[in-house]
Amino acid sequence: MKNIKLRPRCLPNPDDPNHVEQPLAINNRGYLLPCCWCDERVVTNSEKFKKIYDVSKLENFDTVEQLMDQPEWKEFENDLIRARDVGDNLEKINGVCIHHCKEREEIDKIKVETTFRDGKELKKETK
Ligand code: SF4
Repeated sequence: MKNIKLRPRCLPNPDDPNHVEQPLAINNRGYLLPCCWCDERVVTNSEKFKKIYDVSKLENFDTVEQLMDQPEWKEFENDLIRARDVGDNLEKINGVCIHHCKEREEIDKIKVETTFRDGKELKKETK
């Protein structure tokens, strides 16, 4: 997995002050997820993701903050931050995160998203 630069959309982007973070998601089984892209059986059942999924049933907590304060969620976030800032731990990162949140080169583009505000182009992102 060399030469992959990760830009987790669920975290602040140090290079883009206008970055809007990908929101959390809740699946129809009552589990909190880091984002909607994680809501696939193949992801929630995967060995890497199971650790966080197994502790994320909303009914077991009074608040979302309480749920996210668990070590599993902290580790998930810290791994993404390290992957973004240092990049030496990509083997710990879920495939879904690599797929959706790696920086894409020209040849690897899947879409270009243009954001407008008040009729003016704010930014153009290659995804
Ligand atoms: S795919 Fe992973 S890195 Fe990307 S927004 Fe979702 S949880 Fe964050």
